Amino acid sequence: MRFVQCACHQAMGGSFFANAAMSPADAGGASKPVPASAGPVDRAILEELAAASRILADQGVVDAFGHVSMRHPVSPNRFLMSRSLAPALVTADDIMEFDLECEACESKGRSGFLERFIHGEIYKANPAVNSVVHSHSPSVIPFGLTSVPLRAMYHNAAFLAAGAPVFDIRDKFGATDMLVGNHQKGEELAKIMGESPVILMRAHGSVATGPSLSIAVFRAVYTEVNCRLQLQTTMLAAGGAINALDLEEGPKADAVNITSASRAWDLWKRRVQ
Ligand SMILES: [Zn+2]
Repeated sequence: MRFVQCACHQAMGGSFFANAAMSPADAGGASKPVPASAGPVDRAILEELAAASRILADQGVVDAFGHVSMRHPVSPNRFLMSRSLAPALVTADDIMEFDLECEACESKGRSGFLERFIHGEIYKANPAVNSVVHSHSPSVIPFGLTSVPLRAMYHNAAFLAAGAPVFDIRDKFGATDMLVGNHQKGEELAKIMGESPVILMRAHGSVATGPSLSIAVFRAVYTEVNCRLQLQTTMLAAGGAINALDLEEGPKADAVNITSASRAWDLWKRRVQ
């Protein structure tokens, strides 16, 4: 067994060593070489990603399950994500670095999330995505189970004006455990998602993405809120018209949201510090 030193942690002042013989994060998979780290990441960025995880828990988007990641700030072929852990408990020390094959650059004996393939394959397929949130947020689930299209009920959810595709894992993979636990399933999800900011997963959950960490979190939170509102609106409308944002209004309102999402981020972050 040989050991290689990880530049990422050299720069953080530690003397950490990565096991180069295999990747323990790849639970159940064949042993693969450990990819090289893309280099050190500012502690402040790791803190922001950990805060995002706790924000999503505080906002009711994730519970014991679910995860958020961000593309490496320097290398587009790497992404950062917590070790497998309840989102409310994540701190900067839990953040791991992965390549786009979802192999950990340095595991230090930690395990990655089984469904990290959702993240790696979306980063691989869509260079415009810099952050991914996967959740099982409850109000979203009904829209993946029915043929009722998701629509943008108000301006905060303008990114949903064009609706959201549905990934039905059964279509290609038959009866499964419903989890996106390998490359093939992640690749299929990313293909169906295309450039949509959100995708629904039948009988499982959803994924929200964004050009930045704060936008992906914003979209994950407001997807959950929007679904709650759409369920209420549908009951109130009682079969009548629902005058949601249209395809022209959506991009206009979303452009404003992208510039003002930091206000929500600052508020939500304060609650989890
Ligand atoms: Zn899941």
